Amino acid sequence: MERTLVLFKPDVLQRGLLGRIIARFEKKGLKIVGLKMLRMSPATAKEHYAHLTAKPFYPGLEKFMTHHPIVAMAVEGVEAVEVGRKLAGVTNSRKAEAGTIRGDFSMSTSRNVIHAADSLEAAQKEIARFFRKEELFDYALVLHEYFYAEDELK
Ligand code: UDP
Ligand code: MG
Repeated sequence: MERTLVLFKPDVLQRGLLGRIIARFEKKGLKIVGLKMLRMSPATAKEHYAHLTAKPFYPGLEKFMTHHPIVAMAVEGVEAVEVGRKLAGVTNSRKAEAGTIRGDFSMSTSRNVIHAADSLEAAQKEIARFFRKEELFDYALVLHEYFYAEDELK
């Protein structure tokens, strides 16, 4: 079973969208295994967005991500990384499909409400970046057999 890392960016809390967006993950069937509110430090932003620090928009991105609190969430499910990216939609929210989170809640490439890890390797690193071991929970969902058939769990 995969785990992926999702961040609800400062615009989510500012716009009062947190509950509605978390509900989409619950409704889909991704199991929440970690959830916390935090303020991202500039050092963490540089690490998290290491692939972007040379871009002209990076200073603005760092300011945006560190200026107000965010919420980090780890979710678990079969192919959770790919599903998380699909729920999020493409980076430019104006081009994101309607029905995706960015497609439904944002008009921006920058204020695009959500981050979702883009590979299993990134997800593992990112979960470790935002959660200590004891902040992640192993537990069974009582309705598990209604989310997956047995052959999907092999
Ligand atoms: N970003 C931005 N301007 C751009 C491209 C990216 O502000 O032209 C920000 C945006 O918040 C995006 C984040 O940088 O979500 C990370 O960019 P990436 O290309 O990794 O996109 P993502 O994986 O978030 O879809
Ligand atoms: Mg990315």
